[in-house]
Amino acid sequence: MLSPANLRANLLVKLGERTGKTHALPLVLFSPTARCNSRCVSCDWWRADGARDLSLAEIEGLAGDLARFGTRVVVFTGGEPLYRPDVMAAADLFRAKGMTLQLLTSGLGLGRYAEDVAARFQAVTVSTVWTLSWRECASCAPARRRSRCGPAPRCTATTSASSRT
Ligand code: SF4
Repeated sequence: MLSPANLRANLLVKLGERTGKTHALPLVLFSPTARCNSRCVSCDWWRADGARDLSLAEIEGLAGDLARFGTRVVVFTGGEPLYRPDVMAAADLFRAKGMTLQLLTSGLGLGRYAEDVAARFQAVTVSTVWTLSWRECASCAPARRRSRCGPAPRCTATTSASSRT
């Protein structure tokens, strides 16, 4: 059975389909920082210095705005979210509004932040390993194309993604 908040968000999505306007944002991708500590050849985000990253006060305002749009899930992505020193404080601002968090990370900071991540994020996807596996493992590619979205299917040859629900 849907919670009142989820029911409200679903109704607002349907209203948006009818009116052609955005009334609800049930899921939001949020980049705590544009900075990154990886150097992937396919990307230049790591050149960013983070000067335009939102402050905690701005993130608090954003969390309040998203609550009014019925946001239920916020996916932290990047750049590398864990490269921002106060990323857990940013996470708590969304959690204070009742939102569920997911983390998309290169995994390089997971060792240092493991307990903080486990306490705050419902699911974690290690994207660099996932990307490598997707490219390199022929058995994963067809399943990935079929899935269209959502987490990558677990590869039997390598551990391609980790998640906690
Ligand atoms: S981990 Fe992601 S954001 Fe960082 S350099 Fe690689 S593709 Fe870009």
